[in-house]
Parts: sequence; C-alpha cells; structure tokens
Amino acid sequence: MTVTADARTELDRTRFFINGEWVEPRGTETHNALEAATGESLGTAALGTDADIDAAVGAARNALDHGPWSRTTPAERAEVMLRFAEALESRSEATSKLVSQENGMPITLSSAFNGAAPAGLLRMYADVISNTELETVRPSAQGATIVRREPVGVVGAITPWNYPQALAMFKLAPALAAGCTMVLKPSPETALDTYVFADAAQEAGLPPGVLNIVLAGREAGASLVSHPGVDKVAFTGSTAAGRIIGAECGRLIRRCTLELGGKSASIVLDDADLDTFLAAMPTSSFMNNAQTCTTASRILASRARYDEVVEAVAEFSRRQVVGNPLDSSTTLGPMASQTHLERVMGYIDVGRNSSARLVTGGGRPSDQDRGWFVEPTVFADVDNNDQLAREEVFGPVFAVIPFDSDDDAVRIANDSNYGLGGSVYSADEERALGVARRVRTGTIGVNRYDIDLGAPFGGMKDSGIGRELGPEGINNYLEYKSIYAPANRLG
Ligand code: NAD
Repeated sequence: MTVTADARTELDRTRFFINGEWVEPRGTETHNALEAATGESLGTAALGTDADIDAAVGAARNALDHGPWSRTTPAERAEVMLRFAEALESRSEATSKLVSQENGMPITLSSAFNGAAPAGLLRMYADVISNTELETVRPSAQGATIVRREPVGVVGAITPWNYPQALAMFKLAPALAAGCTMVLKPSPETALDTYVFADAAQEAGLPPGVLNIVLAGREAGASLVSHPGVDKVAFTGSTAAGRIIGAECGRLIRRCTLELGGKSASIVLDDADLDTFLAAMPTSSFMNNAQTCTTASRILASRARYDEVVEAVAEFSRRQVVGNPLDSSTTLGPMASQTHLERVMGYIDVGRNSSARLVTGGGRPSDQDRGWFVEPTVFADVDNNDQLAREEVFGPVFAVIPFDSDDDAVRIANDSNYGLGGSVYSADEERALGVARRVRTGTIGVNRYDIDLGAPFGGMKDSGIGRELGPEGINNYLEYKSIYAPANRLG
C-alpha cells in the first residue's frame, strides 16, 4: 500500500525545546524540510544560532548542577525512562512515517529503527543502570577507597540524518541512565522528527533542562562542541566533521566519542553459498538505501568465482524495487536530499571515468519523475586503490574487487582508512570466523550482517573512537571518582 504525501499535515517546529519549554529562537533563520520521494514541503523548522545553543547549554548545566536528575537514584531514573519509552511508543507509527518522508528510509526499516529501537534502548539502559554498582569500597594501604561512578556531566550530542531517532537514542538513553543532562543538535536534513523526543519527555515528566533540543547547522554545532558548559561531546557523522570535532575536544581536553564513516567489505570466499550471501545483502549493503555507515560498498570476491559473484550482485541490484519509501514493497527509496543525490551521482561519474567496468545501473531510474532516486549501480574490476574503493559513497554504488586467497582478502579488506563493519561468507564457519577475527573493524558478520543493539558498536581507524550500545555504552556517560576514606568504611 502506498501512503502518499496528501494525507500529511505540514509540521511547525519553529521553536526550540529548552529547559522543558518551547522557546522562540534568538535568530530568524528557518529550514524548509522537503520530502525525499517528492521534493514537496513537509514542514518548517527554526535553525539555531550560537545564542540558542548557549541558552540550551545553560539550561542543561543548571539542571545538572542544581536540578534533581543527577542526584536521583538509578531506580528513580529508570522509572522516568520507562515512561519516556511508553510515550515514544505511542508515537512510533507517526515517527517512522515522518523519518521515511524526511530521508527516504523504507518504512519497514524505519518502523524498526525509528519506531521500535528508541523505546527499546530506553528500556535497555534503564535495566543496565539498575544493575550497575555506582559505589564500591576496597581496602587500601592506608585505609579504604570508595570508588564512585558519577555522571560525566553535560553532554553535547550531534547526530546525522541517516538514522536520526536511533542514533540520538544511542546517546540519550545511556546519558539519562547515568544521570547526565544533554543538548541534542540534530541534522537539518531531518529537521522535524527529533522534537518527538521533546513531546515524549514532557509527557514522561523528565525534569526541565535534562534534555534540550536545538536544530542547527554546522556553525552552531561547532559552538556546542566548544561551549565551556559542555563536559562531553557525543558525535555521529562524517569522518571529515569528526576530525574537526575531535581536534577541538583534544584542545579543550573534553571527553568525546566519535562514530564516523566507513568503507566496509563483504568477503565472499571461494566456497561461499551465494544464496546466503545474497540473503544478507539487504542488511549488509542495501540497508537504508545504502545510506548506512556500515554499508558494505566493497564486495571482495574470490577470483575462482569472480564472474559468478559479479553477476549475482548485478542481478540482485536489478531486482530492487525502487520507489516511495512509504510503500511497504519498496526496497530502495530515494537519497535524503538533492545535495546528497548529486554527491552519489558524482561517485558514479568517478567509476565511469576509471578503468572499472559498469555492470548495471549508472543513472537515475527512468520511472521516477520526481524525488532524489538513483539506480542501484555495480562496478566490477575495481582496483582497491581506486577512489571508488577508498571513499565513502553513502549510496547504492558498489565496487566488486577480486582476490586470490584468504590472506589476500584480509589484506584488501584491511587496506582502507576505515574500519567499521563487514562480513565474511563461507560454507566453512570456522574458516569464515578465522577471517573475521583478522579484519580490523569494530563489527563484522559471519554469513550475515545485522547490527546487535546489545553489543558494543563503533569503529577502528578513521571510523571513530569509542563504542556505543550494549551495556558497555553506559561507560561513556559515567566518570570514576576515588574517595580515600578511613578504614572503618570497609564495613
Ligand atoms: P555530517 O558530518 O555532515 O553531519 C553530521 C552532524 O554533524 C550534523 O548534525 C551536522 O550539522 C553536524 N556537523 C557537521 N560539521 C560539524 C562541525 N564542524 N561541528 C559541529 N557539528 C558539525 O554527516 P551526515 O552527512 O549528516 O551523515 C553521514 C555521515 O555519518 C556518514 O559519513 C556516515 O558514515 C556517518 N555515520 C556514522 C555512523 C557510525 O555509527 N559510525 C552512523 C551513522 C552515520
């Protein structure tokens, strides 16, 4: 069933959520949010300035230093977080649809990542904090030491447009559980959906100032990173921006986690079952129209079966149902913006102008007369040194690269500045596991690739610093403190 934009009401998000209230912007700039599949208007959002960021950080700082949140017990925080989860869940259908319209994400995926995941993460971290020891006492040479875990403080969170709800909640849920307060700055490409967090937080009774949301561009984002009231920066986005943000955090000795770009490889060994490999493609390579940081955009194929793999990938790409992301039969929606479409088309030109062979795709789909659609595109005979094999495209443009042996496959997979995801396919599970252990990426799949929200997630090399998710994700938001105390504290 196709739900068209006709049923939509234009959203007005022209105020910011600061200190538990909807406040007027200090500046005048607004952003007109457009639907990726049609180019039509979805609504208007205010764009924040340095002054808006300053007000939001002030509210978060005040809530941390003087409000109740950082001094509540884990059980008290967990109770609010569970109410927050319920409030999000009651909005999940509308939120999933809105994000699909904003960034082109197929609705089934959106229901999982923008609908279900945020509430699930709140519940997971409510449970994690309820089972985390925040104070222990150990003997020391002179007496006893009380080792405490305290909230890291005010968090400046900056998120991209590709999974706006889930990626914000990767940060917000553990931060709330730890007792931190936050200023969240989403991306203008997905200008409207993050404010659903504010609606739900108000309903759940989150104290004022604990969560503040200001939509803004890069400049105001930079002022959040360097604001003296911020203790920790949690960033997900491009490696280029991460480099700037990481440098600034280094200068300020400010804690930061960086979840950045990728150029992951699917390794198809010579004994792989191709049906198993193809069954993994929707999550390993095509997820969210290949606008996913873990997208396996390099397909490494054993030379012994190279032609077979190239044809299988090309055939799989031709079978994609390109269309409106609100139609549940669509497997490939549009790119998130006109600018991003142009970037992806630019990489198709890069491939055409290289020695690689275009096997399928290479243009805009002829049956889509509006929206930012691109044909799934496969290049074969790509050299791993080619620009197409080295840079993140962030769209459905795939490079198939031959290898000679398992060692050669590991060498090529690791010959990348990035180290985020990947997968290995083989009929011999032990052999695939052996290869997986040698690939330098933060996550990797064996005969499949699905992100597990219950396990640490993040990158090696230029893909970032730190890990989100899993019970370990709470560590980003807690700081150790040792109190040297008299021996009678040992009890
Ligand atoms: P982007 O870096 O352009 O923007 C991300 C966010 O950072 C936006 O909110 C943007 O306004 C802000 N920003 C940009 N420059 C900034 C600066 N100098 N200071 C402060 N804020 C700044 O990225 P994008 O195009 O929105 O997202 C796509 C990128 O995100 C891809 O590279 C993708 O791989 C990466 N990503 C990584 C992960 C991960 O977990 N590793 C997950 C999703 C996306």
